[in-house]
Amino acid sequence: TITSSKQAIQLEDQYGAHNYHPLPVVLTKGEGVFLWDVEGKRYYDFLSAYSAVNQGHCHPRIKDALIEQAGTLTLTSRAFYNDVLGPFEKYITEYFGFEKVLPMNTGAEGVETAIKIARKWGYERKGVDENRAKIIVAKNNFHGRTTTIISFSNDANARKNFGPYTAGFIKIPYDDVDALKEALQDPEVVAFLVEPIQGEAGVYTPSEDFIRKSKEACKEKNVLFIADEIQTGIARTGSLLAVCGNCSCEGHCERQSTYTKPDMLILGKAISGGFYPVSAVLADRDVMDVIKPGQHGSTFGGNPLGTKVAMAALEVVRDEKLAQNARKLGQIFRDRMQKMVDKFSIAKLVRGKGLLNAVVINDSEESSTAWDICVKLAENGLLAKPTHGNIIRFAPPLVMTEEQLHECCDIIERVIAEF
Ligand code: PLP
Repeated sequence: TITSSKQAIQLEDQYGAHNYHPLPVVLTKGEGVFLWDVEGKRYYDFLSAYSAVNQGHCHPRIKDALIEQAGTLTLTSRAFYNDVLGPFEKYITEYFGFEKVLPMNTGAEGVETAIKIARKWGYERKGVDENRAKIIVAKNNFHGRTTTIISFSNDANARKNFGPYTAGFIKIPYDDVDALKEALQDPEVVAFLVEPIQGEAGVYTPSEDFIRKSKEACKEKNVLFIADEIQTGIARTGSLLAVCGNCSCEGHCERQSTYTKPDMLILGKAISGGFYPVSAVLADRDVMDVIKPGQHGSTFGGNPLGTKVAMAALEVVRDEKLAQNARKLGQIFRDRMQKMVDKFSIAKLVRGKGLLNAVVINDSEESSTAWDICVKLAENGLLAKPTHGNIIRFAPPLVMTEEQLHECCDIIERVIAEF
């Protein structure tokens, strides 16, 4: 057993592949908005496992669902039917307002699934010549780590020496409808795959009408609009989905004029509240029905344990009004951070939506200032991680209270004042 942080770090260093560069904090327990390290120090979590624990750590309702199902039936594969998958499919499609769902496990698998469906749809419904389909993506995207997905990344570190790359992708600048319209002139384009807010790139929040205009432009050219809401979805940005725009009702509704329905919606992360890897692609019949038996799947995809957990996790989002809380606290957070930015020149700007926010540090991407600030934040009991060198993402679990948020803003301000 582990008795010190040093020991745990040494073991990971010696036996684990070095594919991550974690902050030197070793966590052993989580509850709600808090995490504890092996020495017993308590932290506010401001990463939420990259937005996978929106419901807070070890949520009792999700835990109960997991434990109950774990003692009943966990995995059958899709070689047979099981009595949880059907109810889950009905539940999640109604929850998000789509006719069909294809369940997978990780976010990257969800993205791969959407790409396969889009290509097949392109050949069989749109009439694109075989092997010619193209998908438009945005610069600085992050959609996962598989060989196809990194093929359309422009992050040199994510790509170098992993080629040859998968062909068939066109990159345009993010938040640029004109560039999209130009790229859509190509009749071989079958889809536009985009994050409604670019999370990993540094919480780049596009102009108000970017999503709506993008969907309209796609529709005009008979091209599928695919929203990757793996990070932005499930109440994180102050609405159930980022494509809901300004609607903060707790379920799905199409009443709001700000809502843009994607042709395919990809979800992951918080869909299971951090308990179990579950991802899903949602679409209507005309798109989803291109997939026939044997053409796509996964041993664990749609298993009883994951789907039971996902239903409980989605119920928590609705019952605890997490979208509304994220909206309210997000506003408070950005207001306080803006005051901090105005006061201390080391903090350059704050941006984001709901409780997906970032503070940009006034230093180069290559400098270690943001990292040093995060180390200091950890010492002061708050866990956040830099992305792209000088950007610090702040994304706490959505179950945070206003009082806790103010306490966290105090910590951040105190630390920033030291730099
Ligand atoms: N898409 C987006 C927008 C993400 O933020 C992520 C993960 O950070 C992924 C896809 C990949 O998800 P996973 O790490 O579960 O494969």
